[in-house]
Amino acid sequence: MIHTRELVKRHGKTTILKGIDLTIERGEVAVLIGPSGSGKSTLLRCLNGLEEFHGGCVTVDDLTVTAHCSTSRKAALHHQIRLKLGMVFQAFHLFPHLTVMENVIEAPRTVLGLSREEAEARAKPLLDRVGMLGHAHKRPSSLSGGQQQRVAIARALAMKPEAILFDEPTSALDPKMTAEVLSVMADLARDGLTMVIVTHAMEFARHAATTVHVLDSGRLIESAPPDRLFNDPRQNITRELLAKVR
Ligand code: ATP
Ligand code: MG
Repeated sequence: MIHTRELVKRHGKTTILKGIDLTIERGEVAVLIGPSGSGKSTLLRCLNGLEEFHGGCVTVDDLTVTAHCSTSRKAALHHQIRLKLGMVFQAFHLFPHLTVMENVIEAPRTVLGLSREEAEARAKPLLDRVGMLGHAHKRPSSLSGGQQQRVAIARALAMKPEAILFDEPTSALDPKMTAEVLSVMADLARDGLTMVIVTHAMEFARHAATTVHVLDSGRLIESAPPDRLFNDPRQNITRELLAKVR
């Protein structure tokens, strides 16, 4: 459901993504790993139109954005793509002045036009699912990082996306909070939600991923199911990455 073909991204004279061909099928949990600066965040951001790219194309279902689409065509496609792809960031990005419930119903109300009652009816089971229904009336500042991230996941789910992109969702969290968030993500994976996840949580990748993709210097150098990748890494960079976390 998500494809990139020869995706190229530049910053000035530096080429950051050097022709990425990535395929993620519906129901897959794709984990992206790679050294710092290899282009993982840039690739995720190109998928949902948070970054412009300079060559190739990104396809989400039947929507294809090419580097050379007109600006207005791109804007229209990105709007539709963002309805399909939710995003969860390292730094949560909840609205600080809104309660947990208000954070979750904001986009369903303003973007999808749901009434408050409809949006709350949608939000409640999602907050329950991430273990945050009892905190619905609180503001983000009174929650732990793990709790905030679980609210951010419920907020993404409230838009009923086709897939959710996660950029290092647990990097700002301590081990206990990390475990809480990864457990919610593993639960979503079991349910068949399509997910694209940049993470250093290798145990999670080993158990929950369908495919692990390795990026190095803007190139996709190895893609394999976790069993194959962890037991028989074929690239030096992959071996180094796995050795670091063992
Ligand atoms: P990390 O693991 O540290 O998050 P990453 O794999 O997500 O790294 P990116 O953030 O995608 O890497 O960055 C890829 C490369 O692009 C890096 O070399 C970075 O310095 C460069 N880069 C990213 N954003 C910009 C920018 N706005 N201007 C110039 N270079 C940039
Ligand atoms: Mg990054």
